[in-house]
Parts: sequence; C-alpha cells; structure tokens
Amino acid sequence: MIFAEQGGSILDKRDLLQNLFGYTTFRPGQEEVIDAVLAGRDVLAVMPTGAGKSLCYQIPALLLPGMTVVISPLISLMKDQVQALRETGCGAAFLNSSLSSAEYAETMGQINRGEVKLLYIAPERLHRVLGSRPELERFSAAGGTVPLVVIDEAHCVSQWGHDFRPGYLQIADFIREIQPRPVTGAFTATATPQVREDIEGLLRLQEPFSITTGFDRPNLYFEVQKPPNKKNALLECLQARKNASGIIYCATRKAVEDVYELLRGRGFSVTRYHAGLDDGERRQNQEDFLYDRRTVMVATNAFGMGIDKSNVSFVIHYNMPKNIESYYQEAGRAGRDGAPADCVLLYNGQDVRINEYLITRGEDDEDADSRLRTHNLELLKQMTFYAACDGCLRRRLLSYFGEDAPAYCGHCSNCLAEFDDTDITLEARKIISCVYRLKQRNRSFGKTMIIDILRGSKNEKILRFGLDTLSTWGIMADAKAPRIRALIDLLVAEDCLCLEGDEYPVLSLGNAAAEVLREERRLFMKIPREPARSAPADPAASADLSVPAGRSGVSVMPPKGRKGSGADTTAFDTELFDKLKELRKTLAAAEGFPAYIVFSDASLRDMCRKRPVSLVQFSAVHGVGAAKMEKYGEPFVEIIKEYVSHNGPGGQS
Ligand code: ADP
Ligand code: ZN
Repeated sequence: MIFAEQGGSILDKRDLLQNLFGYTTFRPGQEEVIDAVLAGRDVLAVMPTGAGKSLCYQIPALLLPGMTVVISPLISLMKDQVQALRETGCGAAFLNSSLSSAEYAETMGQINRGEVKLLYIAPERLHRVLGSRPELERFSAAGGTVPLVVIDEAHCVSQWGHDFRPGYLQIADFIREIQPRPVTGAFTATATPQVREDIEGLLRLQEPFSITTGFDRPNLYFEVQKPPNKKNALLECLQARKNASGIIYCATRKAVEDVYELLRGRGFSVTRYHAGLDDGERRQNQEDFLYDRRTVMVATNAFGMGIDKSNVSFVIHYNMPKNIESYYQEAGRAGRDGAPADCVLLYNGQDVRINEYLITRGEDDEDADSRLRTHNLELLKQMTFYAACDGCLRRRLLSYFGEDAPAYCGHCSNCLAEFDDTDITLEARKIISCVYRLKQRNRSFGKTMIIDILRGSKNEKILRFGLDTLSTWGIMADAKAPRIRALIDLLVAEDCLCLEGDEYPVLSLGNAAAEVLREERRLFMKIPREPARSAPADPAASADLSVPAGRSGVSVMPPKGRKGSGADTTAFDTELFDKLKELRKTLAAAEGFPAYIVFSDASLRDMCRKRPVSLVQFSAVHGVGAAKMEKYGEPFVEIIKEYVSHNGPGGQS
C-alpha cells in the first residue's frame, strides 16, 4: 500500500508520477490541476479523451490524507480502473451493484480500516452507500475523512450535454453531507459553455480553478468518406487494417447487428455491444474485446465511455453521430497511448435525416424542450458541416472547441486529398431561383420537395399546389437527386440558402443568395480526384462518380499503410514486440486482467526500443512504476535478454 508518507520522507507529485506510474513528465494541464486540488481549490477540468484526466485526481488522492471518492457513470469499467490502480500499488476499491453482499461487506471493511485511498462509486449508489447515515458515521467514527470528491464525466449532470444522467443531480447534496466540505473536482471532455455552466452550477463548485487543455490529438488521423456503399467502404477500411484492434460505431442496434453479421460472415474477429443485449452478454463481449480475444468491436454509443484500452488503433463511425462532442469523444478512444491511430467517418445524407428524426420526434412543445431541440439541431448542423467540410478536418474540429489551428494539418483526408474544383454556379442559380420563385408565391418547402420540383416530378403535392407551372419546375430534370441534395447542403453551408424550423426544416434564401443570382459570385464544389489505387478498384466505390456525394468524398481511401496502426510497428522490431505481447497475455491471463492493465502497448514499444537487460534499465521504461517493476520486471527482462543475446542490443533510443 502506498501512502503519502513512506519511509519517513514525504512523497510529492513528481515521485508518484515517476515511481508509481512510471511516466517521465506531466502532460499539459495535469500539473496545474494537481496543484490546485492540493491547494484546496475546486477544479473544473476540460480535457479531451485520452489527455490523462485520471492522473489529475489520482495523484492528489494519494497525497491527501483520507479517502477520495470518485463518482463515475459506468459501473462496468470501475473494476478495470480499480485493478489498474491496484497494479500500481494504490489502495483502490469500488462499490456498485455488481458486488455480492460478501464482497460489499469486505469492501466496507477495507474502507473503515482506512485501506482505501480511492473509492469508485456510481452516482446512483451514493445515497445508498455513503449517504446513509450509519455507513457514513461508521466511516467517520473510524477517523475516516473525505478530502476530495471527483466527478468523472461531469457533463452527465447537464441536459445540454450528450449523456445526461439524472443520478448526477444528487451529487451536490451528497457532497454537502460531508464535513468538512471536500474539495470538488469535475472532469469532462465536453467544453460547450452551457455544459460548463451547468457543471459549475449543478455541482455547486466554489470558484473553481478552470482549465481547458488543448484538444488536439496529433497522433490521430481524421478521415471522412462519403461512399455510395457504406458496407463496401467499411470492408475496404478493415482490409487495410487487418489484425488491428478497433471500434466501429453504429447509430442503432439494428445497424450494429447488420454490420456485425456482415463482418462475421467475412471471417473478421468481431464482437458487438448494444443496450439490447442482456447484461451477461454485454459484459462478455466487452471483455472479449478488452482482453484481445476479439479484435473488432461493433457497438452503439453505449460502448466505451471511460474505456482505457490503449491499443485501439482505429475508430470507424459507420453512421454520423449527432454532434461533434460525441464524435470527438468516441473517435478519441483510438490511440490513447499516443501511437498513430485512425478516425474514419463514413457519412451519407441518410445519417442527417435519422438524427433529425431522433432529435425532433419528441412531440412535446414545452418551452424548455423546444429550446433543447433547437439547440440539438444546431449541434447536428455543426456535425454535418464537419462531414461535408472540404478544408482541414482537424482545424474544423479544433475550431468547434474554440481553438485556433493552422489551415493545413497534413494529417487528415482533406489535407491529403486532391480535389477537382467543379464550377457549380449555374446549378446553384437554378436551385436558388426555385426557392425564390416559391417565395414569390408565399410558399416554402423542405429539401425533398425542392428536389422534386427541380427534377420535374408530378407528385400529388406538386400538382395540388400547381407547382408544375413554376418556371423552375423540371429545370434540373437530368440531375440525380443525391447530387441536388449535395448542392443544397453546400448552398446552406455557403449561406446562399437557410434551413429554418425544427420539425420540418424548410429552405429560404440566405444572405449570399443575391450575389449568386446576379452572377457576382461563382461557386465551386470540390470533387475528390480518384487516387491511383494499389488494390483493384472496388466497382461499387468507383461506379458512381457522377454522384459527387458532397465535397469530401466519393470513397477516397488514402494510400494504405502510409499511416495508422501498422505504420509505427515498423519503427522497431516486431519479433520482440510479439514475444513481449505473448508474455503480457500469459501474465494477464494468470491474474484475470485485460492485457493492457499489465502494460500498455506504448510500454511494450518502449521496451523494444530500449531493450533493457537489467531491472534498473527496465525501470526507465514508459509506464513502469515501482510496483510493476517488482511484479513483472524479471520475466520481461528475461525475454529481452534472451532476445538480445541472439540479436544484439540493437534498438533505437
Ligand atoms: P482520459 O483523459 O481520457 O481520462 P486517461 O486518464 O485514461 O485519459 O489517460 C489516457 C492514457 O494516458 C492512459 O493510458 C494513461 O496511463 C496515460 N497517461 C496519463 N498521463 C500520462 C503522462 N503524464 N505521461 C504518459 N502517459 C500518461
Ligand atoms: Zn488537415
């Protein structure tokens, strides 16, 4: 057990970072947050997924006297987090509904004996467990104090966020019951002002030290594809990433099942996760993925919050999520150990309509609800702009989070793609005129109706309103509907048209419409140039180039192997890496842990580079703290020694 005082000397945050967790330096923001907490100040920390929020409260928890309470929404992950902490030698425990009564009693015993420095607990259990007088009194009678309460995934307290949890609303009351008032630290990856305001207000933070660290994750490669056939595009993505571990997110359970069956049929090592499966199967599937028994997870967004599987090397979104926060959080589960990883969004217009439907289906027109709806539609629009954007994707994401970024990152599909600019001014004028003519007749319609008019449909509604007499009726009879839809999306993004209304958004003229109508401005649509393919062209992907499905892409796969999970394994010896992985697997299996709890891939890679042949050298490896060195040092050093005796100390530093 590690306590603040060990062998008479007071440990400080740096000792813990290096000796306990095995890292050399703090990441941006970590030190500031730790200092604030240790100085007794509340904290509101907004840091992207994978930035290292946990250390920000784990280190203070170990340095402060008493037991820190960590409120975390997902009970399925507490066990892993606690195991990982115990592996580093910290006294950690969790309380949730998965414990048997004997386990529960045992944990309460550990708590009352002061053996627990970090207690993880689900919000729903707060009152039942610690809020109940007897338990709390027994705890304080035993001299227990709670110096710090941490709220992980703090955005769950806000209905403006994307994961509202009613249980979070009780946290403030829970904290009020603890005397003296503990320091309160709220952590989230969601940065929007409303959410931040709610966190501060609803959790009753007192003049918190607020920090937002940079949102950029340089190791992530961002890509948007707008393939005519998503299944083909997905298969192609996976072919290029054979044996890599990754997550595929789908919008609905049904889509999860479809994709799962497709991949299983093609012999991929896949599993699935969604709320429709029973608890047992969900847990089993999650473990299969975490323990590397299955390499690909197909899931709804129910999967993954708080997951710290370090070797996730790609996240593919089979459907577009409803807002950029969700997207960035889910995509950010790739590459958490800093290794190169890919985030691919497969997008089509259907995704927008499904999301619109999900947001607007609530019939309730109570004031708050309609405001929320408008708000959510606005967020969806931002997400759609990302998917349709032809500039740097990274810049688009970062600017959404309020950060400046260069116009060219060189590490996203738009920066790397070559586009042909097509002049679409004439088509744009036809579409805008159509909206204009309708306005003259005091009518406005949604996208589908406008498309029908332009293509010269004689559907019932058109005839009823006599719209076939419009001068713009049928003037785009030759164009396909998806193309017109893509053009309309572009015109909305360029402010030539506006989409107004929640439930059934209708098109009206935008500020820039007149310029285009008067031919004072030309408009261009970027159509990706088909790259030279190394593999035989997928007929389904290339057949339909006449449907420029938006500006960022008709299935443009960047040249394969240039980036992504495969790329960095070439930087060192994969033979040694595989051996170390094998050993890690054996050791983890013996303990019943997922492999990454023993060591992350980043640690194994560092071993390959440094090739330590003594325990002292081993202690310098990334992620090796005192406890892990003692526990696992010898077997790893043995394998490395053996390898070095045949291959030489080689390695790179
Ligand atoms: P999140 O912000 O998403 O909660 P985590 O706290 O899970 O992120 O950290 C992500 C990963 O980064 C973990 O594998 C963690 O061990 C690692 N990490 C955290 N801090 C550091 C650091 N200072 N140096 C190196 N790795 C770190
Ligand atoms: Zn870019």
